[in-house]
Amino acid sequence: VQATSTSSVDPNAAIVGEVDLPDPAATLSWSAPRWSKDGTRVVVERTRDARTWPWLDEHRADVGPALALFGLLLGFWWLVRTWRRPRIAGRAYCRRCNHDVGGAETHAERCGECGHALAGRGSVVGRTRSRRLGPTLALAALLVAGGAWLASGSIVGASAAAFRPRTAWPFAALDRFAGWPFWRADAPWIVVKRLDVFAVDAEGRPRHLPTSAIEPAPNAHWAMSDDGRMIAWTRFDETNGYRQEVCWFDVDANAGGSTYVGTNADGFLSMCGFGPDRRSIVVRRDRLVVVPDAVAAPDGATLGRHGAEVLRVDPDDGSWSVVGSADAFAIRQSDTSWMLEPGGAALGPGPRATWATFTLSRLRPPAASPYVVRVTSLTVGDGKDVRVVDVEGDAVALYRFVKATLVGDRELAIEEIEAEPQQPARDRRRYRIDLETGRAVVEPVPPHSANESAFEATIALPPGASPWLSPGDPPHAWARLVIRRR
Ligand SMILES: [Zn+2]
Repeated sequence: VQATSTSSVDPNAAIVGEVDLPDPAATLSWSAPRWSKDGTRVVVERTRDARTWPWLDEHRADVGPALALFGLLLGFWWLVRTWRRPRIAGRAYCRRCNHDVGGAETHAERCGECGHALAGRGSVVGRTRSRRLGPTLALAALLVAGGAWLASGSIVGASAAAFRPRTAWPFAALDRFAGWPFWRADAPWIVVKRLDVFAVDAEGRPRHLPTSAIEPAPNAHWAMSDDGRMIAWTRFDETNGYRQEVCWFDVDANAGGSTYVGTNADGFLSMCGFGPDRRSIVVRRDRLVVVPDAVAAPDGATLGRHGAEVLRVDPDDGSWSVVGSADAFAIRQSDTSWMLEPGGAALGPGPRATWATFTLSRLRPPAASPYVVRVTSLTVGDGKDVRVVDVEGDAVALYRFVKATLVGDRELAIEEIEAEPQQPARDRRRYRIDLETGRAVVEPVPPHSANESAFEATIALPPGASPWLSPGDPPHAWARLVIRRR
């Protein structure tokens, strides 16, 4: 029996195809495989430990001091040995007892002191003290320096209280002394997100597309085009100087690119998906300048307004434009900090480029479940006018927002999965909001494609393997994408 990810599918249901995930050993976790809208592709998202030597990294606090101590002992032992076995350069000595057995050319068969046979390697020719000491002391110094370097990466000062003390030699013993200034730090993981794309044929057989080992930033939002060919994501981290970057990769063309749409002062980006032409990328940008609002939330929180823009990026040439802009909302945390409420955007078809952007809130109005968010503002533009649409009552309550699309010029469809944390996903639902009246109706979302309705995609691991690895856990021997008939 194979351990599988959370799934309602019968584990005994017929497996129609399976394929190994590349590089399973470094896999830390994954989310449920995601079908492209047309059902021809499945994307597997994993987090991966990108360290080259994870074992050494985990054991720096052990290996480092051990190496340094070994280097110290080696150097000390060699100094004492050299001191206690004086030799004159050019003369021959018994290798066992260091008795002077004559000049460089000794003809004695045995040592006159201990009787050791001198033939072959039984005798040794004396060298100067510096030539005897040099190589070994250099090696010892190298071991001490290397060990200290390894250890210094694994311990931190006591002021870094966020680090959990870890017990390892030699710090385990020292931990018992109150005020010991060094704790062992958690080994810093280098976590990267990896996306693999699999083509799935009409019989449900998956095939890994080797060009698709895409690694966006670990915190990146990503989206897939309807045909599963294009993956797009945003990047905002130290690797690009915290600039606003939109990235994309075309799996079929084995080519990608990126474009900067702002500096680190311009705000946050959210990946919203693809436009109605199925190729241009839709991004929402939340400006960071928040203006306090006169209206307070029902629970007394102070609200603020900031600008939210809908951006369209053309992956063919990297050009981009601001299609629309609206007010979005933030909640005051302190005198200087605001929490921007999450939001999304959608781009419609047609020459006038209808767009919609909305803010989701957990606080306004008070929600029935702490996991439910509601649409608290919706702004629509059609190339000429921009209007705020009042969504009827509290009609739109979302558990897990998936995506938003504009249906014609009349409706915004917001798709969600009804799922509370730690609970298996329930229905996939869609709210359709009339952009004139704000009236919302909810309906189940049917499978997008024949493949998605016929097959279930899961990840399988060896029996007993944990889907969430921690430092020191044994790595996965294998992990597979398994396709079963529903
Ligand atoms: Zn001897």
